[in-house]
Amino acid sequence: NLYNMVQDLKGNIRVYCRIRPSFSYEAKTVIDFVGDDGSLVILDPLKSQKDGRKVFQFNRVFGPAATQDEVFKDTQPLIRSVMDGYNVCIFAYGQTGSGKTHTMSGPSGGSMKDRGINYLALKDLKSIFLTKHTLEIRSCTGDNGLSLPDATMHPVKSTADVLNLMKLGEVNRVVSSTAINNSSSRSHSVLTVHVHGKDISGSTIHSCLHLVDLAGSERVDKSEVTGDRLKEAQYINKSLSCLGDVITALAQKSSHIPYRNSKLTLLLQDSLGGHAKTLMFAHVSPEEDSFGETVSTLKFAQRVS
Ligand code: ADP
Ligand code: MG
Repeated sequence: NLYNMVQDLKGNIRVYCRIRPSFSYEAKTVIDFVGDDGSLVILDPLKSQKDGRKVFQFNRVFGPAATQDEVFKDTQPLIRSVMDGYNVCIFAYGQTGSGKTHTMSGPSGGSMKDRGINYLALKDLKSIFLTKHTLEIRSCTGDNGLSLPDATMHPVKSTADVLNLMKLGEVNRVVSSTAINNSSSRSHSVLTVHVHGKDISGSTIHSCLHLVDLAGSERVDKSEVTGDRLKEAQYINKSLSCLGDVITALAQKSSHIPYRNSKLTLLLQDSLGGHAKTLMFAHVSPEEDSFGETVSTLKFAQRVS
């Protein structure tokens, strides 16, 4: 189809930026301009209007007013390419509180309104599935010789089954992270959908869709944390920078792709590069307080695009 042809011409890595709404009416925003063409201008609060401008370019930028449906509309063609046999990875990247889980799962509290990409994608795949197709979901892939003792595989029949599974995943994530440090922002969450079936011409399709809500990308102040907490923070930062290295190497069509440097990239190896499509959502908070992290998120995202 046309979308895939355009994608193939442009390469298989897309980067979208999403800016969450501000929570406080008093707080000043660092967002200066959001263009329809994917351009974004932010302002350094400590510099003048003239010197403090930083310009970024992505495939698409969603401003604070963008709805879940608008975001999904621009993600749907990629999700549907799973039906054409492509492996697809969608990542939510950004500091804690920037809206990653909102984009992937929906608003905190699990309201039925404003569901995120996970739900809308599964609903969409379900709606275009023929009865002979099966949809299997697991929280992680176990290939590549990786041991993932907590990964489970579940065949699903309805969207309600999927929802229940996602709730279970969220509960598990909160429980396991509470034991360590009281925050679900310090773990990656991976939802994988395996698609098996036959296309119209009768050839077999075997592809998967990975929906990844990454751990918070904020740098941890070494003066504030020690011991296990510091080790964990360094581990997370390493896995995020390895992910960046892999996507950058793919974007540059480098001959060596450093998949083996982290468990996350090893896990997703078959779905990054080759016959695969990747979409990274770079999430930023608009407030002045977050300026440093916002710049580092945007630089990370610019590097992989
Ligand atoms: P993260 O997963 O990156 O830590 P969350 O998705 O939990 O961040 O978002 C933090 C808070 O902001 C949540 O209460 C969430 O519901 C809200 N929020 C994030 N993005 C949006 C948005 N686009 N529209 C409305 N509320 C949002
Ligand atoms: Mg989150």
